[in-house]
Amino acid sequence: MNFDLVIRGGRVVAPGGVLEADVGISGGVISAIWSPDHDRDAAAASVAGSMNANAGADVDARGKYVLPGVVDAHVHFNDPGFPDREDMASGTAAAAAGGVTTVIDMPLSGQPAVVSLEALELKKKAAAARAKVDYALWGGLVNDNVDEMEAMSRAGAVAFKAFTCFAGDDFPYATPDVLLRGMKEARRLGLLLGVHCEDQALTSRGEAEAAEKGTIRSFLHAHSPLTERLATQAVLEMAKETGARVHICHATLPEVVDAVRRSRLEGVNATVETCPHYLLFSEEDLERIGPVLKCAPPVRSRKAVEAMWERVFDGSVDLIASDHSPSTLSQKNLAGSGGFLKAWGGVQGVQTLLPALFTEGVKKRGLPLKRLTRLISAEPARLFGLYPRKGALQVGSDADLTIFDPETQWTVKPEDLFYKNPHTPYMGMRLQGRVEMTCSRGRIVYYVHDAKTCDAGAAVPRKGSI
Ligand SMILES: [Zn+2]
Repeated sequence: MNFDLVIRGGRVVAPGGVLEADVGISGGVISAIWSPDHDRDAAAASVAGSMNANAGADVDARGKYVLPGVVDAHVHFNDPGFPDREDMASGTAAAAAGGVTTVIDMPLSGQPAVVSLEALELKKKAAAARAKVDYALWGGLVNDNVDEMEAMSRAGAVAFKAFTCFAGDDFPYATPDVLLRGMKEARRLGLLLGVHCEDQALTSRGEAEAAEKGTIRSFLHAHSPLTERLATQAVLEMAKETGARVHICHATLPEVVDAVRRSRLEGVNATVETCPHYLLFSEEDLERIGPVLKCAPPVRSRKAVEAMWERVFDGSVDLIASDHSPSTLSQKNLAGSGGFLKAWGGVQGVQTLLPALFTEGVKKRGLPLKRLTRLISAEPARLFGLYPRKGALQVGSDADLTIFDPETQWTVKPEDLFYKNPHTPYMGMRLQGRVEMTCSRGRIVYYVHDAKTCDAGAAVPRKGSI
C-alpha cells in the first residue's frame, strides 16, 4: 500500500486504547494502523528532513503520543469583522499549533453577527478563504430570528447559540419566550441549542453597581454563582418542556454540572461544557492577573475549581472547549478609562487548550489520557454530528492528528503564540507536553521546528452530508 505519509512508532491513542503503532495516511484519511515491525522501524531513519515535503514522507514519533486532533467546539475568531483582534488565518494557525484540527466558530464577536443566512454566507466565505484547519459554524439565536433558523441550518450551521443575558448590541439576548420558541424550532430541525447561562436581571443590575466601583470584586458579585445557577435551571426547564437538545456552554460551577446531570436522569436531552480556564484559575488568580483573565461567567473560587475537576473525573462534564475570545491588548487594558468593568471579557486559549489540560489534568491529577481525548476530541465531534470522521484516530477517519511530546516542558511566551494579540492568562506558565506536529486531513499544518508552516484547510460539511 502506498501512503502519502507514515507516522512511525508513536503511542497511538485510538478509540480502543493506547497502542504502539504506525499510522498510514493516504488521500487525507487514515488508511492503516499497524504494529511496527522492526525492519520497518529501522528503515524509518528519514525523519525530520522530509516532513515538510509531505509526500511519501516518514515521521518518527517514537516516544511521543499520536493523538486525534482536538475538536474545539467553542471559539470566536471575529472574521469577518475585527481582524485586529483575530481572523480565521491567525485563529486557525494558533489552533494548529495547539493540536486543534477542527474549530466550531461562534456566531458573535465578528461583524456582522451570524444571525441571518446572509451573515452565515459571509462567515463561510471568510473561513473558506483563510482557515488552515477544518471548521464548522454555529448560528445565532437572537430575539427576532427564529424564522431564520431553518435556512441557516440548511446552509450549514451545525448548532445554534443563544444568551440568557446581555451579549452585545448586535447579538440581542433571547428573552424566555424567544428561547422557548427557539428550542421548539431547534427540536423540529434536530439541532443542538447551546446557551450562555447568566440571569439577565441580576447581571445587569450588578454590572450597573460594579460600573461605579470598578473593582474586580464588584464584577465577580455582578456575575455571582447564583446568576449562573438560575439561568441554567430555566434553560433546563425549557428543554424539559420542549424536548430540545440543549448544551450548557462554559459551565463554571459544580452545581450547574450537577443540575445537568439530574435533568438527564429525568430524560432531558442536555450536555455541559467547561473550559480550561475554569479548571486552572480561580478568583485569586483574577485578582493577581487582572483583565487578561476577565471573562463571563468569571473564574470561581478555588473550592469550585476542585469540585469541577471531580466532575471531569466522574464523567459528568461532557466536553472541554477553549472559548477562545480574542481582543486587542488595549481592549484589555482600560484601567485609565473605567477600570476593570470596561476591559474586554474573554480569554485567549485555543493554542494552550491541550498542553494546559495535559499538564493540569493528566500529569498533575492523573486523568487518563484517553479520557482527555474523549473530552476534547471524540465527544465534541459526536455532539456536533462530526464523529467518526472527526474526533477519532481510526482507519477511515480524516487524518486529523497531532504528535504530542509528553516530556518536553516549556514556558508560555508571547513569541510562541499565533494570536494576533499575544496575551493570555497562561503567559509565563510552565507547561508539560508540547505539540510537535499537527496534520489536517493528512497535510502538515504545524511543525514545531518550522513554526510558520501552515497549509489551507477546508470546511467540514454539515451534519448529515458527511
Ligand atoms: Zn464564547
